[in-house]
Amino acid sequence: MRQVMSVCCYCGCGCGLYLLVEDERVVGVAPSRNHPVSRNNLCVKGWHVHEFVHHPDRLSKPLVRRGGELRPASWDEALDRAAEGLAQVKERYGPDAIGVLSSAKCTNEENFLLQKFTRAVLGTNNIDHCARL
Ligand code: SF4
Repeated sequence: MRQVMSVCCYCGCGCGLYLLVEDERVVGVAPSRNHPVSRNNLCVKGWHVHEFVHHPDRLSKPLVRRGGELRPASWDEALDRAAEGLAQVKERYGPDAIGVLSSAKCTNEENFLLQKFTRAVLGTNNIDHCARL
């Protein structure tokens, strides 16, 4: 079993952990003794952070609804559908009818871009982040 240094992606604390890798699969985690944030500790979410990596329900490609059912789609199709839907809601109900939730699994730069997109393109300040929920 190999240990790969990483960072917990479940909230903004950024606790240090080792991913336990066996046969090229992530099978567990262990806290990092020397990490300056977590110092050998993980909360219950951190101890289970490996469970989504190979989970069969994990989304690995975009899904769009066709005929009432979610079906796999290309990124171009999914992004076009999302853009159309957001534009329709904005036109019909105004920008404050839209809210955006970002993710601790994104980088700081991705979260910065999402808040810029929300404010400058969508025209609303309704932007929040799962780490505050
Ligand atoms: S979810 Fe828990 S283990 Fe993960 S970064 Fe936040 S406090 Fe640390």
